[in-house]
Amino acid sequence: MKVTRKYPIYLHALERAMERLKEGAPEREQVREELLRQEAGYFGEIASDKYVRRSRLPGVVLTDIQIEVEPGEVVQIDTLILTRRGIWLIESKKYKGALQYQLSPRRIERRERGGSIIVFPCPIIQLESQIHALEGWLEKRDIKLPVFGTVAFASHNVWEGLPDDAPIIPTREIPLYLETGYRQLPEQLSMESFDELMVLLDQERHYLQWIPICKKFSINPNHLKRGFLCLDCSGTLTRESERTLHCKACDKKSKADYGQLILDWFLLVHPTLNNAQLRAFAKIKRKQTASRILRRYELAQSGKSIGTTYTVNLYTELDGLEIRKRG
Ligand SMILES: [Zn+2]
Repeated sequence: MKVTRKYPIYLHALERAMERLKEGAPEREQVREELLRQEAGYFGEIASDKYVRRSRLPGVVLTDIQIEVEPGEVVQIDTLILTRRGIWLIESKKYKGALQYQLSPRRIERRERGGSIIVFPCPIIQLESQIHALEGWLEKRDIKLPVFGTVAFASHNVWEGLPDDAPIIPTREIPLYLETGYRQLPEQLSMESFDELMVLLDQERHYLQWIPICKKFSINPNHLKRGFLCLDCSGTLTRESERTLHCKACDKKSKADYGQLILDWFLLVHPTLNNAQLRAFAKIKRKQTASRILRRYELAQSGKSIGTTYTVNLYTELDGLEIRKRG
């Protein structure tokens, strides 16, 4: 089966937050933990994609679908396998190290080297809520198709306390799991309704509103480094000209990428940007310079003259992880 998956914008945003949060900022710890949780998910998805590709099912694989359960409440489905006999969801994880399964509330804990404990949400609960959300979504549209799912682990972990009947398989068993399940079921959908359903589910992607990292984690934006950062040491660069930057610590020159800097603003600070904010964030002195830079990128504008603000839809308008330049 064919699987395509984009690098998650949320994971990228957490990485950028770790780059920009000043040393000693109190918010670093919770962002770091969330980064570890999101990495466990993404690396798990990459590992399970390999085995979903090897599965022989007549159907399609949809990735990163967001199902709205109630207004404002969204459940994310990382991997959805749609066939004319049923739908399978796979919740994949790749954890490092020894894990403990804990009850009430169900969760996974891992002891870090320093002795601190990082808590991961229970992937079985995540899977159950995905199945429940999708069943409700289908029912609302009067579509009769059964939904199944499994948690798939990409790592060989030492477990403590894991229940025997937990719906968890190693990623390499994904093809067998899917093919066996599929064979046992009768056809439910006509080719026509299958195509319709595929389009409907595909539309359930990327319709979320982006919440900047500072808002999500109540981070004081003053705890972020401004300006351009060195790719090697994350230190603040000094500007020698509009385009040329210099790292004193590494004694290296580099080119200023204003697109990345503007993207950092949207990811971390605020969903819109104006001239004054860009000047403060990029450490630019002249208004005209900031205007010229803003015009270079494909950003949606609203307002006039000094009230002009710029924005971009981070889910649908980026080219990979970059803001598009005007042609
Ligand atoms: Zn450096």
